[in-house]
Amino acid sequence: MTETMMPRSAAAALDQSDPLAALRDEFALPDGVIYLDGNSLGARPQAAAARAAQVIAQEWGDGLVRSWNKAGWFEMPTRLGDLLAPLIGAGADEVVVTDTTSMNLFKALAGALHIQAQRPASAARRIIVSERSNFPTDLYIAEGLASWLDRGYQLRLIDSPDQLDAAIDSDTAVVMLTHVNYRSGSLHDMATINRIAHQRGALTVWDLAHSVGALPIHLQRDDCDFAVGCTYKYLNGGPGAPAFIWLAPRHQADFAQPLTGWWGHAAPFAMAPGFVPVDGIRRALCGTQPMVSLALVECGLNVFAKTSMGAIRTKSLALTDLFIALVEARCAAHPLRLVTPREHARRGSHVSFEHPHGYPVMQALIARGVIGDYREPHIMRFGFTPLYTRFVDVWDAVAILADLLDRQAYDLTGARDAVT
Ligand SMILES: *Cc1c(COP(=O)(O)O)cnc(C)c1O
Repeated sequence: MTETMMPRSAAAALDQSDPLAALRDEFALPDGVIYLDGNSLGARPQAAAARAAQVIAQEWGDGLVRSWNKAGWFEMPTRLGDLLAPLIGAGADEVVVTDTTSMNLFKALAGALHIQAQRPASAARRIIVSERSNFPTDLYIAEGLASWLDRGYQLRLIDSPDQLDAAIDSDTAVVMLTHVNYRSGSLHDMATINRIAHQRGALTVWDLAHSVGALPIHLQRDDCDFAVGCTYKYLNGGPGAPAFIWLAPRHQADFAQPLTGWWGHAAPFAMAPGFVPVDGIRRALCGTQPMVSLALVECGLNVFAKTSMGAIRTKSLALTDLFIALVEARCAAHPLRLVTPREHARRGSHVSFEHPHGYPVMQALIARGVIGDYREPHIMRFGFTPLYTRFVDVWDAVAILADLLDRQAYDLTGARDAVT
């Protein structure tokens, strides 16, 4: 069937046969909203409200300081890391949920540069390869770390993935990339890039912010060195929920990071004056974690335990394929340009279209209950989250978009919000 002709009933039939359909009930979604921004802030798991109340009333209120032991607070970063590990192709004791993505990136990049600096064969390497279109905080963190270290580290930024091969050379210390680009939705070939980097003596740091929970990730199989990622996007951990950091087991013993706080100490309650890093993944920790937020990460992870990343990827590609096909069929008269790669192997789980009036069009969509977001320049971003996005949501969102564009029902004079 061509999507041009696809009636809404055909989208409803896809929902009928969708093996993930029942998981939508795990989420509290407001009526009248088509939520296509789970790649920015995931929806709330139903269970999160009761879990928050339990942490606040019982664990904090009744348990008080005893909860560090009795409620498992002190172990929570590693316990949640072990729950998250299967989603990223990692094993137990390899991941901790802690701090922010920005902070974890700082730690991972610093640790990777330190390992290179310790190796006689790579100590002179001063180049960090990344992408100009990377999420800004990643580049800011790398810039800040390079200037703080004051040893001549420099960023080498490529403008498209096909420049990577030439950019990674004998001067390259670290290749630092985001797996799925936040703006375009394009997906890197992790295994190939790791292989090229390693052949040339470089280490890799991957940011999984827009891929974890959206597609299968195989950190071990694909031979990554370090990875960080976000829990408040596809993992539905809650606004500002702590992020995560993964170290390849082969690097754990040599991993030294600059935020040497007491939670990374071998014996934190010995209260000794000198820093001695703990063995294992806890050395990636720094200090006391926000327990209310951290506890809620588990509610999101529990939903993933009811399905598989393979099933999620299958539905994700079906949703994004349908969205692209419907937009191109029904909005063909309008100046929309697909920014996201069409090939499945190069696409994450969001779709970006450029439109000269992207910001006001997105505002008009949001006013009609279709929540996506806007990224400079001119890009409307639509995130598809297979746990709760339905095929009829895709159909309805495109019908509303087509209607808005046909009637030019958007306001070119409106002011911009701080968060777009
Ligand atoms: C969302 C995102 C972040 C967020 O970093 P915070 O420290 O949580 O603000 C970082 N990097 C990438 C690539 C992202 O997509």
